[in-house]
Amino acid sequence: MADYFLNIHQLKNYIDGKWIEGKQFIPVINPATGKKIVNVPLSSEETVDYAVSSAKRAQKDWALVPAPKRAEIIYDVGTLLKERKETLARLLTMENGKILEEARGEVQEGIDMAFYMAGEGRRLFGQTTPAELKDKFAMSMRVPVGVVGIITPWNFPIAIATWKAFPAIVAGNAVVWKPATETPMMAYELAKIFEEAGLPPGVFNVVHGSGAVVGQRFVHHPDIRVISFTGSNETGRMIAGECGKQLKKVSLEMGGKNAVIVMDDADLELAADGIIWSAFGTSGQRCTACSRVIVHENVKEKLEERLLEKIATLSIGNGLDETIRVGPIINKASIEKIKSFIEIGKEEGAKLLTGGYELTGEQYKNGHFFAPTLFTNVTANMRIAQEEIFGPVVSIISVKNFTEAIEVNNSVTYGLSSSIFTHDVNQVFRATRDLDTGIVYVNAGTTGAEIHLPFGGTKGTGNGHRDSGIQALDVFTEWRAVYVDYSGKLQRAQLDVE
Ligand code: NAD
Repeated sequence: MADYFLNIHQLKNYIDGKWIEGKQFIPVINPATGKKIVNVPLSSEETVDYAVSSAKRAQKDWALVPAPKRAEIIYDVGTLLKERKETLARLLTMENGKILEEARGEVQEGIDMAFYMAGEGRRLFGQTTPAELKDKFAMSMRVPVGVVGIITPWNFPIAIATWKAFPAIVAGNAVVWKPATETPMMAYELAKIFEEAGLPPGVFNVVHGSGAVVGQRFVHHPDIRVISFTGSNETGRMIAGECGKQLKKVSLEMGGKNAVIVMDDADLELAADGIIWSAFGTSGQRCTACSRVIVHENVKEKLEERLLEKIATLSIGNGLDETIRVGPIINKASIEKIKSFIEIGKEEGAKLLTGGYELTGEQYKNGHFFAPTLFTNVTANMRIAQEEIFGPVVSIISVKNFTEAIEVNNSVTYGLSSSIFTHDVNQVFRATRDLDTGIVYVNAGTTGAEIHLPFGGTKGTGNGHRDSGIQALDVFTEWRAVYVDYSGKLQRAQLDVE
Protein backbone atom coordinates (compact mmCIF):
# COMPACT_ATOMS: atom_id res chain seq x y z
CA MET A 1 0.00 0.00 0.00
CA ALA A 2 2.88 2.36 0.81
CA ASP A 3 4.35 1.84 -2.69
CA TYR A 4 1.00 2.67 -4.15
CA PHE A 5 1.12 6.19 -2.77
CA LEU A 6 4.68 6.78 -3.89
CA ASN A 7 3.27 6.94 -7.40
CA ILE A 8 0.10 8.91 -6.88
CA HIS A 9 -0.15 12.31 -5.30
CA GLN A 10 -2.79 13.81 -7.53
CA LEU A 11 -5.68 12.02 -9.12
CA LYS A 12 -6.55 12.75 -12.74
CA ASN A 13 -9.77 12.72 -14.66
CA TYR A 14 -10.29 9.84 -17.06
CA ILE A 15 -11.72 11.08 -20.34
CA ASP A 16 -11.75 9.46 -23.78
CA GLY A 17 -9.35 6.79 -22.54
CA LYS A 18 -6.79 9.40 -21.45
CA TRP A 19 -5.68 10.59 -18.02
CA ILE A 20 -6.29 14.34 -17.89
CA GLU A 21 -4.49 16.55 -15.37
CA GLY A 22 -6.53 18.81 -13.14
CA LYS A 23 -5.72 22.45 -12.39
CA GLN A 24 -7.25 23.03 -8.96
CA PHE A 25 -7.27 20.40 -6.21
CA ILE A 26 -8.56 19.63 -2.75
CA PRO A 27 -7.14 17.05 -0.37
CA VAL A 28 -8.80 13.70 0.34
CA ILE A 29 -8.61 13.06 4.07
CA ASN A 30 -8.62 9.69 5.84
CA PRO A 31 -11.49 10.15 8.35
CA ALA A 32 -9.84 7.80 10.87
CA THR A 33 -6.44 9.50 10.99
CA GLY A 34 -6.94 13.01 9.62
CA LYS A 35 -4.05 12.36 7.20
CA LYS A 36 -4.15 13.43 3.59
CA ILE A 37 -4.36 10.49 1.18
CA VAL A 38 -4.15 12.25 -2.17
CA ASN A 39 -5.37 15.38 -3.98
CA VAL A 40 -8.49 15.27 -6.11
CA PRO A 41 -9.17 17.70 -8.98
CA LEU A 42 -11.95 20.24 -8.82
CA SER A 43 -12.80 20.15 -12.50
CA SER A 44 -14.44 22.86 -14.57
CA GLU A 45 -17.56 22.91 -16.73
CA GLU A 46 -15.29 22.81 -19.79
CA THR A 47 -13.83 19.50 -18.59
CA VAL A 48 -17.35 18.10 -18.27
CA ASP A 49 -18.13 19.29 -21.79
CA TYR A 50 -15.03 17.54 -23.12
CA ALA A 51 -16.01 14.32 -21.35
CA VAL A 52 -19.59 14.48 -22.64
CA SER A 53 -18.53 15.11 -26.23
CA SER A 54 -16.11 12.15 -26.02
CA ALA A 55 -18.84 9.98 -24.54
CA LYS A 56 -21.33 11.03 -27.19
CA ARG A 57 -18.95 10.13 -30.00
CA ALA A 58 -17.90 6.82 -28.41
CA GLN A 59 -21.48 5.79 -27.68
CA LYS A 60 -22.45 5.68 -31.35
CA ASP A 61 -19.96 2.87 -32.04
CA TRP A 62 -20.47 1.19 -28.69
CA ALA A 63 -24.19 0.81 -29.31
CA LEU A 64 -23.34 -1.16 -32.47
CA VAL A 65 -21.15 -3.67 -30.60
CA PRO A 66 -23.30 -6.78 -29.98
CA ALA A 67 -24.49 -6.81 -26.37
CA PRO A 68 -22.86 -10.19 -25.56
CA LYS A 69 -19.53 -8.70 -26.67
CA ARG A 70 -20.12 -5.58 -24.55
CA ALA A 71 -20.87 -7.90 -21.66
CA GLU A 72 -17.58 -9.77 -22.08
CA ILE A 73 -15.76 -6.58 -21.14
CA ILE A 74 -17.91 -6.21 -18.03
CA TYR A 75 -17.06 -9.84 -17.21
CA ASP A 76 -13.35 -9.01 -17.49
CA VAL A 77 -13.93 -5.98 -15.26
CA GLY A 78 -15.44 -8.37 -12.70
CA THR A 79 -12.40 -10.64 -12.91
CA LEU A 80 -10.03 -7.70 -12.33
CA LEU A 81 -12.14 -6.47 -9.42
CA LYS A 82 -11.94 -9.96 -7.94
CA GLU A 83 -8.15 -10.09 -8.34
CA ARG A 84 -7.78 -6.68 -6.68
CA LYS A 85 -10.43 -7.10 -4.01
CA GLU A 86 -8.07 -6.80 -1.05
CA THR A 87 -6.19 -3.74 -2.36
CA LEU A 88 -9.43 -2.01 -3.26
CA ALA A 89 -10.96 -2.80 0.13
CA ARG A 90 -7.97 -1.29 1.94
CA LEU A 91 -8.09 1.88 -0.15
CA LEU A 92 -11.83 2.07 0.43
CA THR A 93 -11.37 1.84 4.19
CA MET A 94 -8.75 4.58 4.02
CA GLU A 95 -10.89 7.05 2.10
CA ASN A 96 -14.31 6.20 3.54
CA GLY A 97 -13.54 4.81 7.01
CA LYS A 98 -15.79 1.72 6.97
CA ILE A 99 -14.15 -1.30 8.56
CA LEU A 100 -12.16 -3.62 6.34
CA GLU A 101 -14.68 -6.46 6.52
CA GLU A 102 -17.42 -4.15 5.24
CA ALA A 103 -15.11 -2.66 2.61
CA ARG A 104 -14.43 -6.18 1.31
CA GLY A 105 -18.17 -6.72 1.22
CA GLU A 106 -18.67 -3.53 -0.76
CA VAL A 107 -16.07 -4.53 -3.37
CA GLN A 108 -17.78 -7.93 -3.53
CA GLU A 109 -21.00 -6.15 -4.47
CA GLY A 110 -19.19 -4.66 -7.45
CA ILE A 111 -17.86 -8.11 -8.42
CA ASP A 112 -21.34 -9.62 -8.13
CA MET A 113 -22.82 -6.81 -10.18
CA ALA A 114 -20.20 -7.29 -12.93
CA PHE A 115 -20.91 -11.01 -13.32
CA TYR A 116 -24.65 -10.50 -13.08
CA MET A 117 -24.71 -7.75 -15.71
CA ALA A 118 -22.31 -9.72 -17.92
CA GLY A 119 -25.04 -12.36 -18.09
CA GLU A 120 -27.53 -9.67 -19.01
CA GLY A 121 -25.63 -9.12 -22.26
CA ARG A 122 -27.22 -12.35 -23.52
CA ARG A 123 -30.67 -11.41 -22.25
CA LEU A 124 -31.69 -7.74 -22.43
CA PHE A 125 -35.04 -9.29 -23.18
CA GLY A 126 -37.78 -7.57 -25.09
CA GLN A 127 -41.10 -9.16 -26.02
CA THR A 128 -42.73 -10.50 -29.11
CA THR A 129 -46.48 -10.27 -29.13
CA PRO A 130 -49.29 -10.98 -31.62
CA ALA A 131 -50.28 -8.11 -33.87
CA GLU A 132 -53.96 -7.31 -34.30
CA LEU A 133 -53.72 -7.40 -38.12
CA LYS A 134 -53.00 -10.33 -40.43
CA ASP A 135 -49.46 -10.74 -41.78
CA LYS A 136 -48.02 -8.34 -39.28
CA PHE A 137 -45.35 -8.87 -36.62
CA ALA A 138 -44.96 -6.89 -33.39
CA MET A 139 -42.22 -6.73 -30.80
CA SER A 140 -40.68 -4.48 -28.18
CA MET A 141 -36.97 -4.05 -27.63
CA ARG A 142 -34.64 -2.11 -25.38
CA VAL A 143 -32.44 0.58 -26.94
CA PRO A 144 -29.71 2.58 -25.20
CA VAL A 145 -30.50 6.13 -24.08
CA GLY A 146 -27.15 7.68 -25.09
CA VAL A 147 -24.86 9.44 -22.61
CA VAL A 148 -25.60 8.69 -18.96
CA GLY A 149 -24.53 11.03 -16.14
CA ILE A 150 -23.85 9.25 -12.85
CA ILE A 151 -23.58 11.21 -9.58
CA THR A 152 -22.72 9.24 -6.43
CA PRO A 153 -22.20 9.78 -2.68
CA TRP A 154 -19.20 8.96 -0.48
CA ASN A 155 -20.77 6.22 1.64
CA PHE A 156 -20.60 3.43 -0.97
CA PRO A 157 -17.86 4.72 -3.28
CA ILE A 158 -17.62 1.67 -5.52
CA ALA A 159 -20.78 -0.43 -5.12
CA ILE A 160 -23.21 2.31 -6.15
CA ALA A 161 -21.13 3.22 -9.19
CA THR A 162 -21.20 -0.42 -10.33
CA TRP A 163 -24.98 -0.64 -9.82
CA LYS A 164 -25.30 2.18 -12.31
CA ALA A 165 -22.35 1.99 -14.70
CA PHE A 166 -22.44 -1.76 -15.46
CA PRO A 167 -26.08 -1.95 -16.61
CA ALA A 168 -25.66 1.35 -18.48
CA ILE A 169 -22.62 0.08 -20.38
CA VAL A 170 -24.02 -3.40 -21.10
CA ALA A 171 -27.12 -1.72 -22.50
CA GLY A 172 -25.00 0.26 -24.99
CA ASN A 173 -24.70 3.66 -23.31
CA ALA A 174 -21.60 5.71 -22.55
CA VAL A 175 -21.05 6.91 -18.99
CA VAL A 176 -19.78 10.09 -17.43
CA TRP A 177 -19.32 9.65 -13.67
CA LYS A 178 -18.85 12.25 -10.96
CA PRO A 179 -17.81 10.52 -7.74
CA ALA A 180 -17.97 12.25 -4.36
CA THR A 181 -14.84 14.32 -3.67
CA GLU A 182 -14.49 12.63 -0.27
CA THR A 183 -13.97 9.19 -1.90
CA PRO A 184 -12.40 9.49 -5.38
CA MET A 185 -9.90 6.61 -5.11
CA MET A 186 -12.44 3.98 -6.07
CA ALA A 187 -13.24 5.94 -9.23
CA TYR A 188 -9.57 6.06 -10.13
CA GLU A 189 -9.25 2.31 -9.56
CA LEU A 190 -12.40 1.46 -11.51
CA ALA A 191 -11.30 3.61 -14.46
CA LYS A 192 -7.94 1.79 -14.53
CA ILE A 193 -9.79 -1.52 -14.53
CA PHE A 194 -12.05 -0.49 -17.41
CA GLU A 195 -8.97 0.60 -19.34
CA GLU A 196 -7.21 -2.73 -18.72
CA ALA A 197 -10.34 -4.68 -19.62
CA GLY A 198 -10.23 -3.04 -23.05
CA LEU A 199 -13.29 -0.82 -22.95
CA PRO A 200 -13.10 1.51 -25.95
CA PRO A 201 -12.03 5.09 -25.12
CA GLY A 202 -14.89 7.42 -24.23
CA VAL A 203 -17.37 4.75 -23.11
CA PHE A 204 -16.53 5.26 -19.43
CA ASN A 205 -15.32 8.65 -18.17
CA VAL A 206 -14.63 10.05 -14.72
CA VAL A 207 -14.80 13.76 -13.98
CA HIS A 208 -13.89 14.68 -10.41
CA GLY A 209 -15.18 17.81 -8.77
CA SER A 210 -17.85 19.55 -6.78
CA GLY A 211 -21.57 19.07 -7.03
CA ALA A 212 -22.04 22.78 -7.60
CA VAL A 213 -19.84 22.85 -10.74
CA VAL A 214 -19.40 19.34 -12.17
CA GLY A 215 -22.68 17.91 -10.86
CA GLN A 216 -24.66 20.91 -12.04
CA ARG A 217 -23.07 20.80 -15.50
CA PHE A 218 -24.11 17.12 -15.74
CA VAL A 219 -27.66 18.08 -14.86
CA HIS A 220 -27.80 20.90 -17.41
CA HIS A 221 -25.75 19.40 -20.24
CA PRO A 222 -28.10 18.89 -23.21
CA ASP A 223 -26.24 15.77 -24.39
CA ILE A 224 -26.60 13.93 -21.07
CA ARG A 225 -29.87 12.12 -21.63
CA VAL A 226 -30.30 10.52 -18.22
CA ILE A 227 -29.06 11.37 -14.74
CA SER A 228 -28.69 8.54 -12.24
CA PHE A 229 -28.21 10.11 -8.81
CA THR A 230 -27.68 8.67 -5.34
CA GLY A 231 -27.31 11.04 -2.42
CA SER A 232 -29.22 13.25 -0.03
CA ASN A 233 -32.84 14.19 -0.32
CA GLU A 234 -32.08 17.90 -0.60
CA THR A 235 -29.72 17.47 -3.55
CA GLY A 236 -31.95 14.89 -5.23
CA ARG A 237 -35.03 17.09 -5.04
CA MET A 238 -33.16 19.98 -6.61
CA ILE A 239 -31.78 17.78 -9.40
CA ALA A 240 -35.26 16.35 -10.03
CA GLY A 241 -36.67 19.86 -10.45
CA GLU A 242 -33.92 20.88 -12.83
CA CYS A 243 -34.20 17.68 -14.88
CA GLY A 244 -37.98 18.03 -14.91
CA LYS A 245 -37.74 21.44 -16.59
CA GLN A 246 -35.57 19.91 -19.35
CA LEU A 247 -37.69 16.73 -19.64
CA LYS A 248 -34.50 14.82 -18.80
CA LYS A 249 -34.88 11.32 -17.44
CA VAL A 250 -33.68 11.13 -13.83
CA SER A 251 -33.36 8.26 -11.39
CA LEU A 252 -33.04 9.19 -7.72
CA GLU A 253 -31.97 7.05 -4.76
CA MET A 254 -31.98 9.11 -1.59
CA GLY A 255 -32.20 8.89 2.17
CA GLY A 256 -33.90 6.58 4.61
CA LYS A 257 -35.26 6.45 8.17
CA ASN A 258 -35.30 2.70 8.39
CA ALA A 259 -36.87 0.75 11.24
CA VAL A 260 -36.51 -2.67 12.80
CA ILE A 261 -39.79 -3.90 14.31
CA VAL A 262 -39.39 -6.33 17.21
CA MET A 263 -42.58 -8.19 18.14
CA ASP A 264 -43.10 -9.85 21.53
CA ASP A 265 -42.61 -13.37 20.13
CA ALA A 266 -39.28 -12.47 18.49
CA ASP A 267 -35.93 -14.12 19.17
CA LEU A 268 -34.55 -11.13 21.09
CA GLU A 269 -30.93 -12.21 20.85
CA LEU A 270 -31.21 -12.43 17.06
CA ALA A 271 -33.11 -9.13 16.89
CA ALA A 272 -30.45 -7.38 18.98
CA ASP A 273 -27.69 -8.73 16.71
CA GLY A 274 -29.63 -7.55 13.64
CA ILE A 275 -30.12 -4.09 15.13
CA ILE A 276 -26.46 -3.67 16.15
CA TRP A 277 -25.23 -4.71 12.70
CA SER A 278 -27.62 -2.53 10.75
CA ALA A 279 -27.48 0.48 13.09
CA PHE A 280 -23.76 0.72 13.79
CA GLY A 281 -22.22 -0.90 10.69
CA THR A 282 -20.53 1.84 8.63
CA SER A 283 -21.14 3.94 11.78
CA GLY A 284 -24.78 4.31 10.78
CA GLN A 285 -23.81 5.99 7.52
CA ARG A 286 -25.74 3.69 5.22
CA CYS A 287 -28.89 4.73 3.44
CA THR A 288 -30.43 1.50 4.79
CA ALA A 289 -29.06 1.90 8.33
CA CYS A 290 -31.49 1.10 11.13
CA SER A 291 -32.18 4.38 12.92
CA ARG A 292 -35.47 3.40 14.60
CA VAL A 293 -36.36 0.36 16.66
CA ILE A 294 -40.10 -0.17 16.98
CA VAL A 295 -40.50 -2.61 19.84
CA HIS A 296 -43.52 -4.31 21.40
CA GLU A 297 -43.93 -2.89 24.90
CA ASN A 298 -43.81 -6.39 26.47
CA VAL A 299 -40.18 -6.90 25.40
CA LYS A 300 -38.86 -3.33 25.38
CA GLU A 301 -36.79 -3.56 28.57
CA LYS A 302 -35.32 -6.96 27.73
CA LEU A 303 -34.34 -5.76 24.26
CA GLU A 304 -32.77 -2.59 25.66
CA GLU A 305 -30.68 -4.64 28.10
CA ARG A 306 -29.38 -6.82 25.29
CA LEU A 307 -28.61 -3.82 23.07
CA LEU A 308 -26.68 -2.11 25.87
CA GLU A 309 -24.65 -5.26 26.53
CA LYS A 310 -23.76 -5.58 22.86
CA ILE A 311 -22.91 -1.89 22.41
CA ALA A 312 -20.49 -2.12 25.35
CA THR A 313 -18.47 -4.72 23.41
CA LEU A 314 -18.12 -2.67 20.19
CA SER A 315 -14.54 -1.60 19.52
CA ILE A 316 -14.32 1.78 17.79
CA GLY A 317 -11.37 3.05 15.77
CA ASN A 318 -9.46 2.82 12.50
CA GLY A 319 -11.19 0.28 10.27
CA LEU A 320 -7.86 -1.01 8.93
CA ASP A 321 -7.38 -2.68 12.31
CA GLU A 322 -9.23 -6.02 11.94
CA THR A 323 -10.34 -5.98 15.59
CA ILE A 324 -12.35 -2.76 15.12
CA ARG A 325 -16.13 -3.11 14.67
CA VAL A 326 -17.13 0.56 14.21
CA GLY A 327 -15.11 3.03 12.15
CA PRO A 328 -15.12 6.83 11.93
CA ILE A 329 -17.67 9.38 10.77
CA ILE A 330 -16.81 10.84 7.36
CA ASN A 331 -16.00 14.42 8.43
CA LYS A 332 -16.39 17.21 10.97
CA ALA A 333 -19.60 18.54 9.38
CA SER A 334 -21.26 15.15 9.86
CA ILE A 335 -20.12 15.03 13.50
CA GLU A 336 -21.70 18.45 14.04
CA LYS A 337 -24.95 17.32 12.43
CA ILE A 338 -25.09 14.22 14.66
CA LYS A 339 -24.35 16.32 17.76
CA SER A 340 -27.15 18.72 16.90
CA PHE A 341 -29.59 15.80 16.71
CA ILE A 342 -28.45 14.60 20.15
CA GLU A 343 -29.46 18.02 21.53
CA ILE A 344 -32.73 17.91 19.59
CA GLY A 345 -33.51 14.47 21.05
CA LYS A 346 -32.85 15.63 24.60
CA GLU A 347 -34.98 18.75 24.12
CA GLU A 348 -37.79 16.64 22.71
CA GLY A 349 -37.81 14.59 25.93
CA ALA A 350 -36.21 11.36 24.71
CA LYS A 351 -34.07 9.49 27.24
CA LEU A 352 -30.42 8.94 26.34
CA LEU A 353 -29.57 5.32 27.26
CA THR A 354 -25.97 5.33 26.05
CA GLY A 355 -23.59 7.35 23.86
CA GLY A 356 -24.52 10.80 22.63
CA TYR A 357 -20.98 12.18 22.42
CA GLU A 358 -18.01 12.54 20.10
CA LEU A 359 -15.04 10.37 21.07
CA THR A 360 -12.03 12.56 21.80
CA GLY A 361 -9.47 10.32 23.56
CA GLU A 362 -5.86 10.02 22.43
CA GLN A 363 -6.54 7.33 19.80
CA TYR A 364 -9.40 9.38 18.32
CA LYS A 365 -7.90 12.83 18.33
CA ASN A 366 -6.98 13.09 14.64
CA GLY A 367 -10.11 11.48 13.24
CA HIS A 368 -13.89 11.82 13.65
CA PHE A 369 -15.55 9.27 15.90
CA PHE A 370 -18.93 9.16 17.58
CA ALA A 371 -20.13 6.82 20.33
CA PRO A 372 -22.91 4.36 19.36
CA THR A 373 -26.02 6.03 20.75
CA LEU A 374 -29.41 4.78 21.94
CA PHE A 375 -32.36 7.03 22.72
CA THR A 376 -35.41 5.47 24.33
CA ASN A 377 -38.94 6.65 25.16
CA VAL A 378 -38.99 8.23 21.72
CA THR A 379 -42.35 9.00 20.14
CA ALA A 380 -42.97 8.52 16.45
CA ASN A 381 -43.37 12.20 15.67
CA MET A 382 -40.14 13.45 17.29
CA ARG A 383 -37.58 14.87 14.87
CA ILE A 384 -35.03 12.22 15.90
CA ALA A 385 -37.59 9.61 14.78
CA GLN A 386 -38.45 11.37 11.53
CA GLU A 387 -35.27 12.90 10.08
CA GLU A 388 -32.20 11.19 8.65
CA ILE A 389 -29.28 11.70 11.06
CA PHE A 390 -26.77 9.56 9.12
CA GLY A 391 -24.76 8.48 12.14
CA PRO A 392 -24.74 5.82 14.87
CA VAL A 393 -27.94 7.01 16.58
CA VAL A 394 -30.97 4.78 17.21
CA SER A 395 -34.37 5.82 18.54
CA ILE A 396 -36.40 3.21 20.41
CA ILE A 397 -40.16 3.61 20.07
CA SER A 398 -42.47 1.34 22.04
CA VAL A 399 -45.78 0.14 20.56
CA LYS A 400 -48.75 -1.86 21.85
CA ASN A 401 -49.38 -4.15 18.89
CA PHE A 402 -48.60 -5.08 15.28
CA THR A 403 -50.97 -2.52 13.74
CA GLU A 404 -49.34 0.31 15.64
CA ALA A 405 -45.88 -0.97 14.67
CA ILE A 406 -46.78 -0.78 10.99
CA GLU A 407 -48.29 2.70 11.41
CA VAL A 408 -45.15 3.98 13.13
CA ASN A 409 -42.92 2.43 10.48
CA ASN A 410 -44.90 4.12 7.73
CA SER A 411 -45.15 7.50 9.47
CA VAL A 412 -41.91 8.86 8.00
CA THR A 413 -41.46 10.63 4.67
CA TYR A 414 -38.85 8.05 3.59
CA GLY A 415 -39.51 4.50 2.37
CA LEU A 416 -36.24 2.66 1.81
CA SER A 417 -35.90 -0.37 4.08
CA SER A 418 -37.74 -2.00 6.99
CA SER A 419 -37.50 -5.18 8.99
CA ILE A 420 -39.61 -7.29 11.32
CA PHE A 421 -38.56 -9.88 13.86
CA THR A 422 -41.36 -12.35 14.63
CA HIS A 423 -42.13 -16.06 14.34
CA ASP A 424 -45.79 -15.47 13.56
CA VAL A 425 -46.29 -16.35 9.88
CA ASN A 426 -49.45 -14.24 9.69
CA GLN A 427 -47.57 -11.17 10.89
CA VAL A 428 -44.76 -11.92 8.43
CA PHE A 429 -47.09 -11.87 5.44
CA ARG A 430 -49.07 -8.87 6.69
CA ALA A 431 -45.80 -7.01 7.17
CA THR A 432 -44.53 -7.75 3.67
CA ARG A 433 -47.88 -6.44 2.41
CA ASP A 434 -48.20 -3.37 4.65
CA LEU A 435 -44.68 -2.00 5.24
CA ASP A 436 -44.38 0.95 2.86
CA THR A 437 -40.72 0.54 1.88
CA GLY A 438 -38.91 -0.66 -1.23
CA ILE A 439 -37.05 -3.32 0.78
CA VAL A 440 -38.47 -5.52 3.57
CA TYR A 441 -36.47 -7.96 5.69
CA VAL A 442 -37.92 -10.69 7.90
CA ASN A 443 -35.82 -11.83 10.88
CA ALA A 444 -32.83 -9.82 9.65
CA GLY A 445 -31.75 -6.18 10.07
CA THR A 446 -32.43 -3.39 7.57
CA THR A 447 -29.23 -3.85 5.55
CA GLY A 448 -27.90 -6.60 3.30
CA ALA A 449 -29.31 -6.07 -0.18
CA GLU A 450 -28.29 -8.53 -2.91
CA ILE A 451 -27.46 -7.09 -6.32
CA HIS A 452 -29.90 -9.14 -8.42
CA LEU A 453 -32.90 -7.65 -6.64
CA PRO A 454 -34.19 -4.11 -7.18
CA PHE A 455 -32.73 -1.56 -4.76
CA GLY A 456 -34.57 1.62 -3.88
CA GLY A 457 -37.41 3.08 -1.93
CA THR A 458 -40.91 4.45 -1.91
CA LYS A 459 -42.10 7.98 -1.01
CA GLY A 460 -39.32 10.52 -0.35
CA THR A 461 -36.53 7.98 -0.88
CA GLY A 462 -36.78 8.04 -4.64
CA ASN A 463 -38.81 8.75 -7.72
CA GLY A 464 -39.95 5.27 -8.62
CA HIS A 465 -36.81 3.93 -10.28
CA ARG A 466 -34.55 1.21 -8.93
CA ASP A 467 -30.81 0.57 -8.88
CA SER A 468 -29.48 -2.97 -9.45
CA GLY A 469 -31.60 -5.94 -10.44
CA ILE A 470 -32.90 -6.12 -14.01
CA GLN A 471 -35.00 -3.11 -13.03
CA ALA A 472 -31.86 -0.94 -13.36
CA LEU A 473 -32.02 -1.58 -17.11
CA ASP A 474 -35.24 0.44 -17.26
CA VAL A 475 -33.28 3.54 -16.23
CA PHE A 476 -30.66 3.07 -18.92
CA THR A 477 -32.82 1.96 -21.84
CA GLU A 478 -35.79 3.22 -23.77
CA TRP A 479 -38.47 0.81 -24.94
CA ARG A 480 -38.97 0.71 -28.68
CA ALA A 481 -42.08 -0.87 -30.18
CA VAL A 482 -41.49 -2.34 -33.66
CA TYR A 483 -44.21 -3.33 -36.15
CA VAL A 484 -43.36 -5.25 -39.34
CA ASP A 485 -46.16 -5.49 -41.89
CA TYR A 486 -45.54 -8.26 -44.42
CA SER A 487 -49.00 -8.20 -46.04
CA GLY A 488 -47.89 -6.09 -49.01
CA LYS A 489 -50.85 -3.74 -48.64
CA LEU A 490 -51.79 -0.79 -46.45
CA GLN A 491 -53.29 -2.13 -43.23
CA ARG A 492 -54.56 0.44 -40.76
CA ALA A 493 -54.47 -0.45 -37.06
CA GLN A 494 -57.85 -0.21 -35.33
CA LEU A 495 -59.58 0.49 -38.70
CA ASP A 496 -58.90 -2.56 -40.86
CA VAL A 497 -59.51 -5.22 -38.20
CA GLU A 498 -62.04 -7.75 -39.52
P1 NAD B 1 -25.05 14.60 -1.28
O1 NAD B 1 -26.41 14.79 -1.84
O2 NAD B 1 -24.44 15.70 -0.52
O3 NAD B 1 -24.01 14.27 -2.45
C1 NAD B 1 -24.23 13.20 -3.36
C2 NAD B 1 -23.53 13.54 -4.66
O4 NAD B 1 -24.21 14.65 -5.26
C3 NAD B 1 -22.07 13.95 -4.51
O5 NAD B 1 -21.31 13.45 -5.58
C4 NAD B 1 -22.16 15.47 -4.58
O6 NAD B 1 -20.96 16.08 -5.00
C5 NAD B 1 -23.27 15.66 -5.59
N1 NAD B 1 -23.92 16.97 -5.52
C6 NAD B 1 -24.03 17.79 -4.45
N2 NAD B 1 -24.68 18.92 -4.80
C7 NAD B 1 -25.01 18.79 -6.10
C8 NAD B 1 -25.68 19.64 -7.03
N3 NAD B 1 -26.15 20.84 -6.68
N4 NAD B 1 -25.85 19.21 -8.30
C9 NAD B 1 -25.38 18.00 -8.68
N5 NAD B 1 -24.71 17.16 -7.84
C10 NAD B 1 -24.53 17.55 -6.57
O7 NAD B 1 -25.11 13.25 -0.42
P2 NAD B 1 -23.93 12.59 0.47
O8 NAD B 1 -23.84 13.33 1.74
O9 NAD B 1 -22.71 12.43 -0.36
O10 NAD B 1 -24.53 11.14 0.71
C11 NAD B 1 -25.32 10.79 1.79
C12 NAD B 1 -26.77 10.67 1.36
O11 NAD B 1 -26.89 9.68 0.34
C13 NAD B 1 -27.67 10.19 2.48
O12 NAD B 1 -28.87 10.93 2.48
C14 NAD B 1 -27.95 8.74 2.12
O13 NAD B 1 -29.14 8.23 2.66
C15 NAD B 1 -27.98 8.81 0.64
N6 NAD B 1 -27.77 7.48 0.04
C16 NAD B 1 -28.84 6.87 -0.57
C17 NAD B 1 -28.68 5.59 -1.11
C18 NAD B 1 -29.83 4.91 -1.80
O14 NAD B 1 -29.58 4.07 -2.66
N7 NAD B 1 -31.08 5.21 -1.49
C19 NAD B 1 -27.45 4.95 -1.04
C20 NAD B 1 -26.40 5.61 -0.41
C21 NAD B 1 -26.56 6.88 0.12
